[in-house]
Amino acid sequence: IMKYDNENIFAKILKDKIPCDKVFEDEHVLSFKDINPQAKLHILIIPKKKFIDIADFLENADEEYQSSFWSSVNKIIIKLELRDKGFQIKAHKGKDGGQEVFHFHLHLLSNS
Ligand code: 5GP
Repeated sequence: IMKYDNENIFAKILKDKIPCDKVFEDEHVLSFKDINPQAKLHILIIPKKKFIDIADFLENADEEYQSSFWSSVNKIIIKLELRDKGFQIKAHKGKDGGQEVFHFHLHLLSNS
């Protein structure tokens, strides 16, 4: 079973050891631009707590934290005016799912 690596790149971003192009931050999440965008808008949304991937998050984050996380996601969607224009949300899980950074994150993409 995989352990959370405290030295992963998003852990370093959370600790301000590596800079990021911040889009949104609150108590529970940090959101910043993907360094290698795959759409006109491509941002990442990460919980501030340590979860390896979406399965770890769904299994181990308590309900209050999960609900706060999704509420922050909604704030970002509204702030970026994507609510009515449209967007994609993706989560890569595991090596076979194309995951490269093992701190849970959502990709939010839009061509609007
Ligand atoms: P995944 O793990 O879901 O496959 O993708 C990780 C994503 O993080 C990739 O889209 C990649 O471009 C992005 N990424 C990797 N390193 C950095 C970084 O240092 N800064 C930022 N802003 N994005 C990164």
